[in-house]
Amino acid sequence: MRELVIIGAGPAGLTAAVYARRAGVDVLVCEGGMYGGQLVNTETIKNYPSYKTVEGWELARNMYLQAEECGAEFLYENVISVTEKDGVFTVTTDKQVIECLAVIIANGSKRKRIGCKGSDRYEGLGISYCASCDGQLYKGQPVAVVGGGDNAFEDALYLSALCTKVHLCAKSVTASEESVEAVKQKENITLYEGFYPTEIYGEMRVTGIKISDKKETDLDIPVAAVFTALGQTRDNAIFARVVVVDDSGYIIAAEDCATDTKGVWAAGDTRTKPLRQIVTAASDGATAATAASAYIIKKRKK
Ligand SMILES: Cc1cc2nc3c(=O)[nH]c(=O)nc-3n(C[C@H](O)[C@H](O)[C@H](O)COP(=O)(O)OP(=O)(O)OC[C@H]3O[C@@H](n4cnc5c(N)ncnc54)[C@H](O)[C@@H]3O)c2cc1C
Repeated sequence: MRELVIIGAGPAGLTAAVYARRAGVDVLVCEGGMYGGQLVNTETIKNYPSYKTVEGWELARNMYLQAEECGAEFLYENVISVTEKDGVFTVTTDKQVIECLAVIIANGSKRKRIGCKGSDRYEGLGISYCASCDGQLYKGQPVAVVGGGDNAFEDALYLSALCTKVHLCAKSVTASEESVEAVKQKENITLYEGFYPTEIYGEMRVTGIKISDKKETDLDIPVAAVFTALGQTRDNAIFARVVVVDDSGYIIAAEDCATDTKGVWAAGDTRTKPLRQIVTAASDGATAATAASAYIIKKRKK
């Protein structure tokens, strides 16, 4: 039987691992992808204390190495469910079943997908979720960006410095006036406001995108890549047997990160909170791990 299972190795999970190990608790971190979470898709971070600027991958690596040095164990498997019986939790991954005394859910959030014809087919074959990671691959070529928020506009600006042409497809524009103005100043960015993608097509890789405004205009635009910037979504249905989620899918937990189930904490972007950032995720990890460690140590004594 393990003592603490942490689900997710983003800033929240990695910080939780450091705090729980330093409290003398046995820690297993289950990570379905790459350690670092959203950090690995972030180019430069300018608001994490102690760094004027730091690359996302570098901060992720530092956090991971610190957790590993503290003695946390890592299991690269996707968690598919968590259940509880008589105070013991069963964490099921896609490969095995693990029993433990306490769980910290730190599974963050995922990027929203486009969901039009061809969007599944070309995932990873020209459809990207990270302009700063993949932009260089399309240097000197035309690309599309899908989304209407600040991230989409920032991606378009970033790509306009690399690509010959950026087609920005925004069903509705929610980006700040400053971002919109900056985009309008760029000669090689065209904003298609009110348009949404109807098809992404190609051969081995993406060669074009079809967009429509649902009224009379359908456009077919040759592009080498489609960058998706539609925001985040949560995948918390798998924890429905141990936590309650709000209407937006966030796990209901307050500043102490405790959920309705004794022995389960939720940390980072996955929980209800006003600010989803690296520093607040790390703070949650510390809070959740301190409470979970005290809970485990008390259980040991029984
Ligand atoms: C493009 C971009 C730029 C950003 N820039 C900044 C910035 O400059 N400054 C800032 O403070 N914040 C920034 N953020 C936000 C910040 O990255 C997040 O708030 C932070 O990463 C949240 O940390 P987390 O640990 O809660 O979740 P995440 O970072 O999302 O990590 C969650 C981890 O859990 C894993 N996971 C998910 N489900 C499962 C499962 N079922 N089983 C096992 N593992 C699972 C995921 O693979 C992931 O590794 C940015 C985000 C993005 C997307």
